[in-house]
Amino acid sequence: MGRPTGRSVPEEPIARSGPVRMCVGCGSKRLQAELTRFVIGPEGAIVVDRERRLPGRGAYLCGVGCMTAALKRKAFSRAFRGKAGLVDPSQLG
Ligand SMILES: [Zn+2]
Repeated sequence: MGRPTGRSVPEEPIARSGPVRMCVGCGSKRLQAELTRFVIGPEGAIVVDRERRLPGRGAYLCGVGCMTAALKRKAFSRAFRGKAGLVDPSQLG
């Protein structure tokens, strides 16, 4: 969690088991279990799905720093097909 830059792709092997997802901030691929999942909440805002149980499309971030990158890239609206509403970065804190 919390890699400061997301530019350099780590050479960690994607091993072990479980589904792999891409961080929408930095684009690195990680085990889903290592990522924070976001979904569109009932109000249309993006909420953290800490239990990974909420229905619908999810977007994943590997750390707080990637939130900023994701917002700059409009990665959420892409991940959620334009439905993304407000994001409250403090949710990650
Ligand atoms: Zn990331």
